[in-house]
Amino acid sequence: MTSGDKAQPLLLTNVKPIAFGDGTTDATTDILIGADGKIAAIGSSLAAPSDALRVDGKGAWISPGWVDLHVHIWHGGTDISIRPSECGAERGVTTLVDAGSAGEANFHGFREYIIEPSRERIKAFLNLGSIGLVACNRVAELRDIRDIDLDRILECYAENSEHIVGIKVRASHVITGSWGVTPVKLGKKIAKILKVPMMVHVGEPPALYDEVLEILGPGDVVTHCFNGKAGSSIMEDEDLFQLADRCASEGIRLDIGHGGASFSFKVAEAAIARGLLPFSISTDLHGHSMNFPVWDLATTMSKLLSVGMPFDKVVNAVTHAPASVIKLSMENRLSVGERADFTIFDMIDADLEATDSNGDVSRLQRLFEPRYAVIGSEAITASRYIPRARRLVRHSHGLSWR
Ligand SMILES: [Zn+2]
Repeated sequence: MTSGDKAQPLLLTNVKPIAFGDGTTDATTDILIGADGKIAAIGSSLAAPSDALRVDGKGAWISPGWVDLHVHIWHGGTDISIRPSECGAERGVTTLVDAGSAGEANFHGFREYIIEPSRERIKAFLNLGSIGLVACNRVAELRDIRDIDLDRILECYAENSEHIVGIKVRASHVITGSWGVTPVKLGKKIAKILKVPMMVHVGEPPALYDEVLEILGPGDVVTHCFNGKAGSSIMEDEDLFQLADRCASEGIRLDIGHGGASFSFKVAEAAIARGLLPFSISTDLHGHSMNFPVWDLATTMSKLLSVGMPFDKVVNAVTHAPASVIKLSMENRLSVGERADFTIFDMIDADLEATDSNGDVSRLQRLFEPRYAVIGSEAITASRYIPRARRLVRHSHGLSWR
């Protein structure tokens, strides 16, 4: 549902607020949003102007708009990215954070062709490597020091500081070869100079997950925190688990970053059972993870719920937690005069077969089902993604599922 060319007021009725900071009640309310996109009134049985569009929430939850802290949406500028519209408002997500698809050499295109025209709010971690993910995992962005231009990174940030929220480093031998942990140290140096967080992808060592944690500080983000890769899983090495647990308590943010290869039900379930919860839940959606095994943010949230993460913590992990990383205010989100930015969703009973990145299967009994994304005075109909059938694709290294 959209308001067409001319903005109209929007009346949301019968919605149940959650995660606005005042505790959760079962009471429903109405919210009137003016044509200017700002909240005009909150209360029961609100009268609306005659030209207002009406959306009946039918008792659904309404939360601050969901934030996906790790996606790849530099569509057309990288071979791996999807369009913002494929993982944004129509999936219930109002803020998308691109995790290093663009580097300093091509960030201007990302800004002009993706960030500026999109209806979703888009922020970005700038890749430490100049070229970003142009030909992802084929032309690696961090082979040696010639792939990093410190001066140009600083210039790029100065020109785009309203869009760039941090520095991204993929610390895995697929990208860095035997270069080890040095690019992480360089990334941390730049992040310190710019006073922004660094997001590090942990995967196939080197670098070791352990080494990465030793370099990061409070406010930095480890994505793929619950991966199940040999040499990088926090459940195969008790010392690494203890280190991750301590780092999390000291303010290093453990982010899910599901992706095609980086989320394990077994690791997540064991960590959560021991009290180590992820800070944020993100998808790492891109062209090779969307149809299998990720689908969307709501399904990823449902997966974390299924392995023991409490409902309110899951909601927090896609609202307040990622918002704090990108310095997006969550204060007074449900107050008259504030710009409307909401996700309306239900919890539904289901029996859905879902797969992690290791091919392990779980049956999800409860699903987050987005109904609308509300961006200003626009209510966009939302739903979970229905994956296309998987295809067996032939390429130079053999066969793989896509
Ligand atoms: Zn990624």
